[in-house]
Parts: sequence; structure tokens; C-alpha cells
Amino acid sequence: MNPDTLTLLAVGLPTLAAAATAVTVLVRRRGSGSQDEAAPSADDRVVDGTTAVQEGEPATAPAPAPAPDVEALPVLDGEATALEELERAAALEVPAPVQGRMARLRDRLARSGSPLGARLLSVLSRDHLGEEDWDELEEVLLLADVGAGPATELIDALRTQARVHGLSDAAQVRALLREQLLALVDPSMDRSLATTPATAEDGTHVPAVVLVVGVNGTGKTTTVGKLARVLVAEGRTVVLGAADTFRAAAADQLQTWGSRVGVTTVRSDRDGADPAAVAFDAVRTGTQEGVDVVLVDTAGRLQNKAGLMDELGKITRVLTRQAPLSEVLLVLDATTGQNGLNQARVFGEVAGVTGIVLTKLDGTAKGGIVVAVQRQLGVPVKLVGLGEGPDDLAPFDPEAFVDGLLRG
Ligand code: GDP
Repeated sequence: MNPDTLTLLAVGLPTLAAAATAVTVLVRRRGSGSQDEAAPSADDRVVDGTTAVQEGEPATAPAPAPAPDVEALPVLDGEATALEELERAAALEVPAPVQGRMARLRDRLARSGSPLGARLLSVLSRDHLGEEDWDELEEVLLLADVGAGPATELIDALRTQARVHGLSDAAQVRALLREQLLALVDPSMDRSLATTPATAEDGTHVPAVVLVVGVNGTGKTTTVGKLARVLVAEGRTVVLGAADTFRAAAADQLQTWGSRVGVTTVRSDRDGADPAAVAFDAVRTGTQEGVDVVLVDTAGRLQNKAGLMDELGKITRVLTRQAPLSEVLLVLDATTGQNGLNQARVFGEVAGVTGIVLTKLDGTAKGGIVVAVQRQLGVPVKLVGLGEGPDDLAPFDPEAFVDGLLRG
């Protein structure tokens, strides 16, 4: 128990005895209420997500899980229950505010020496740019993974500007480059995350369902954990679904992320359980608990494209029987360049991606991948991973990104 908790307990104990009695009464009363009301606390709500889901099964509402026999539960000493609640609350982490996180990327990009921006500026500031200089600029852009099409567009735009206005003034060159890079990143794309729950016609609560896909190792599970924290920081309620059932550690990892901020994880304790079944159970739990968002982590074994297609296809079909998918986020590792783009193409074909999460942007000076991947898939980069820390995930902000490239 940490000292803060001790202080809290010292202050709270006298009133807690009374409160604790009330908690016990509440637990007892719940025995006669609905199962939702009787749901165990965040720490022990790890559901065994092994509902058998058969393709072609009628789209009926899932049978409710049997209500726990609350009377059979050991009646905890009221004081101990309340103290545990207090300890648990004190142990929960408070995620960092989301605003301003992109500024950290700016700093990191600048610290990395930002070769893209610095090299572009150094060529553009030469006197009398010749063909070789323009070729060099193109090479810099290609090396930064911007992609051939966008690189040509940028060079053409800069050449036109150079002809019309000249490129003599350093501040003007920087402003021009900023404007053109920003145009490539496309600030007009809608980068908001669809995480608002809905109400069905029959009045049922429908959580927003966010499916997270991508090749293993790209940072998928970490991203789901970080995103849960972002949502918690914004006051939203969340359930996690550990549908990466091929890697036992993935479910443990996700559960740890969730428990740190008091979020339930639905998982299977059986390796190789049907991922669609776990995803289904996660959405059912989210619906029953009335949470705002269900985040579903998936496995991404790209070695077997047909298998991956089948698996993601089945998860999608099974989930959409319960609730429409609000977002399908593709996680890509920014350091993998062309390889990442090939992955993007495969997932784009399979999963109906609505947004990209570009992880490990802190580990590359090749920011151009943002442009290339948006072009490849025609969907925006919505979030970026900026490090291994729990709050190193930021909503992508084109202006902050371009400013980061040009600093240094
Ligand atoms: P998964 O197999 O796709 O679920 O990948 P994991 O979530 O297990 O992450 C793989 C590794 O990438 C872990 O070591 C993460 O800490 C690391 N990682 C994830 N996101 C980032 C990021 O934005 N920056 C850095 N530097 N590392 C990251």
C-alpha cells in the first residue's frame, strides 16, 4: 500500500465503516436484480470469451450468461470490501491529458535531426537551383518514404513557385515548403475517431466498436492499451477484447493495460480459441455493461494471407451482427517503409480500414511514410505512436507533424 493510500485510509476510515455496511447491503440487493447490476468489480470481470460462434448462426441476441449466484458468494466483511474498493481506486493510473501530445512528437522529430526537413531546406537554400538540385530533392523525398507520386507533385509545385517568385529568401522558402508538405499530408481529411455509442431502435445500448488490425510486432496490442487510456482520459467507458488468441501473452498484455486504468478485458484462457468468439463476447459484455467503446485487438499473421482474410472476415461478420463497426484501425510500424505499405495493401483489401495508426514514429526520421500510406489506402492517419510509454499515443495533427519535420 503506498503512502497516499495510507493517508486516504486514515482520513476515510471513520466514515468508511458506515459506507462499508451500505456496500455490503448493495451487493446483497444486487442478487435479486439483473446480472448487470451484479457484475463483479473491474479486477475480476475477466470473462472467458469462448462462446461458440458458428457461421450462419441466426442473428439473434446472444443468450445471457447465467447470473452469478450472489447469495453463494462469500459475504465479505463490509469494511474490507470498502477498503479494497478504495485501494483499487487509489491504485488506478490517471492517463495524461491527450491535448498537446503531438507537441512531443514535434520535439522528438526535431531531436532526431529531422533529416527530411533539414535536407530539403539545405538544397532549397542553394543559389540558382539546377536539374541536379531538383534530382537531389526528389531523392531526399524518396529516401524519406514519401513515395514517387507525391515526391513528383511536391517538386513540380516547388519548381513552379521558384519560377514565379524565386527562392531567394530563407524564410519564404521555409514557408513555401511548409505549405507544400502540408498539402501532401492533407489537412482536409477527417481524422476524428468514431467512438460515440448509439441506441438501437428497440432502445438497446450499442457501444462503438473499434477493430484494431495489423501485422504482429507493429505495436497493435500496445496501441489498443494506449487507446484505452486516451479514451479513459476523455471520460469514456471502455471494454477490451483480446481476440489475438494465438499469442497467449497478448491477452495478458492487454489485460494488464486495461487493469491499470480500471478497464475490463474479455479474453479466453484457452490458447487458439476462436478469435471471432472472443470478439463477440467482448461486444456483448460492452453492450451489457453499457460502455461507450469496445476495442478489439486481433492477431495478424501475414504469412498466411488466405487464413488472415478468413479470420478477419469472420470477426467482422460476427461483430456486425451485434453492432456496426465504428472504426477499423490498421496499425503500421513507421520504421518498416515499403514493407509496411505492402501490409497496408493486404489489410486494406481484407478489412475495410477506416483509419491508420502509425506506430514508432519516434524511431524514424522518415516521416514521409505518413503521406505514402494515406495515398496507398485513401484513408487518413488518425493516431501516431510516439514511444513505448503508456501515454505515447497522439491524435495525428498534420500541422504539428510538418512543423516537426521542418524544425531542427
Ligand atoms: P503487436 O504484436 O502488434 O501486438 O505488438 P506489441 O503491441 O506487442 O508491440 C511490439 C513492440 O513495439 C513492443 O515492444 C512495444 O513497446 C513497441 N511499440 C509499440 N508502439 C510503439 C511506438 O509508438 N514507439 C516505440 N518506440 N515502440 C513501440
